[in-house]
Amino acid sequence: MYRSILVPIDISESELTRQVIPYVQAHAVINIAKVHFLTVIPSHPYYSTLGLAYSAALPKLKDLQEEALSRLNEIVKAFKIPMEKVQTHAVTGTPKDQILKLADTVQADLIIIASHRPDMTTYLLGSNAAAVVRHAKCPVLVVR
Ligand code: ADP
Repeated sequence: MYRSILVPIDISESELTRQVIPYVQAHAVINIAKVHFLTVIPSHPYYSTLGLAYSAALPKLKDLQEEALSRLNEIVKAFKIPMEKVQTHAVTGTPKDQILKLADTVQADLIIIASHRPDMTTYLLGSNAAAVVRHAKCPVLVVR
């Protein structure tokens, strides 16, 4: 029985999101679960090289985070999961690291993730999906 499901969402990839919807719905319906949706805003090492991360760039990052969260909230509506079961998260950092970190924080017992971008010519796993499969402490459902 799953109590905490983590669904990482790349908000720039609506095709991937559509792919995972039925799988998330199936698990959210069967199980009495909290579904955590996470989007990660990749941080730009370039900024910090310029010394901007702690000055001019900071308020921008906060705006970015709010914008990402509201985009994510819009996307999550398509999953049609009762609101009380849903929690959304937007953080900055490296997607794979942040996904694994939140999995620990919310004690995820299942992660549902798409394998890779459809326009990638590989049949393998994308770099974030691969790292999550490899390092997660819980089962990972890879949607293809
Ligand atoms: P690709 O390299 O083909 O984009 P990824 O491994 O990055 O493949 O993406 C596969 C899945 O990883 C996505 O469907 C999503 O679930 C997750 N993911 C990738 N980037 C992010 C991100 N910035 N925030 C949250 N999840 C992400």
